[in-house]
Amino acid sequence: MKAIRIKEFGGPEVMKLEEVPDLKPGAGQVVVRLRAVGVNPVDTYMRAGTYPRKPSLPWTPGTDGAGTIESVGSGVSRFKSGDRVYIAGCLSGAYAEQSLCEERFVFPLPANVSFAQGAAMHIPYSTAFRALFHRAQARGGETVLIHGASGAVGIAAVQLARAAGLRVIGTAGSDRGRQLVTAEGAHEVLDHKAPGHFDEALALTGGRGYDVILEMLANVNLGRDLPILASKGRVVVVGNRGSAEIDARHTMTRDASILGMSMWNASPEEVISIHSALVAGLENKTLRPVIGQEIPLAEAARAHTAVMEAGAYGKIVLIP
Ligand code: NAP
Repeated sequence: MKAIRIKEFGGPEVMKLEEVPDLKPGAGQVVVRLRAVGVNPVDTYMRAGTYPRKPSLPWTPGTDGAGTIESVGSGVSRFKSGDRVYIAGCLSGAYAEQSLCEERFVFPLPANVSFAQGAAMHIPYSTAFRALFHRAQARGGETVLIHGASGAVGIAAVQLARAAGLRVIGTAGSDRGRQLVTAEGAHEVLDHKAPGHFDEALALTGGRGYDVILEMLANVNLGRDLPILASKGRVVVVGNRGSAEIDARHTMTRDASILGMSMWNASPEEVISIHSALVAGLENKTLRPVIGQEIPLAEAARAHTAVMEAGAYGKIVLIP
């Protein structure tokens, strides 16, 4: 089979498509024939070698994908050859034609959901779910600002929050992105490039402020998020690419919380529980992953450049 292999950390060009041996499942494992692979910003940080988690080389990136079960190891009971599935992490790296996965981190892909949409599930949707419901403890009737709603995590958060009965305000940096955020369920949409958007965001709550803010770029926004929180408001730091300056007094006066969130910290039980809820959302069509770009696996380098560019529009997937 073919797989992307990285033999040295560096720019997107270090990713090379190579012929590698076919995968064989051990006990409790399955091999998935991938039809689509999710590209996440974290793949680019790891490829560059700048991320706290440094994989040993040679390395095949990727945790997300969807396809059909090719073979199953002994003791596997939930799947058989040919079943449509999506994966939530794998042992072998997902930028490939096959991936080796533990059975417990593989989930059924409903017939109405495409492989590309399945590849958009794991990191984006589980991050949005864990940030909203496990960390922020968001409840129906609350108001959430999804700061950076046009990307993969943002669209997932908009759909999840709307389905749970929150009032949803989303932001995007392009017209196309804002149209998408509205179409996917935000009650209001703002431009995070406009200097006055924090005032507009506060005005949309009648001056009360936000119960929850999901922050995709904390280094830019955290200092200005705090003054637009409601009493007992919670900001969840989902994305951050530098340091931020804050006035901590804004947290005191509101009994507010700044909550970090990394999917790496989720226990296996938590991941499995989150995906059980996500599969239900796919089945009842409250969750509808949006695919912005499909790029051939051989052009993974182009996907890594695209995922770091402004003007996000849903998910970027690779097609093996
Ligand atoms: P993505 O699809 O590339 O989306 C990036 C989002 O950030 C877009 O909506 C983009 O909007 C928005 N953005 C750009 N400038 C912004 C600003 N000044 N203020 C607010 N938002 C801004 O990436 P993703 O997969 O959704 O991931 C989003 C971030 O979360 C990334 O930094 C990623 O590394 C991080 N993440 C963290 C975890 C975790 O476990 N903590 C998990 C997944 C992702 P426009 O392009 O429309 O301007």
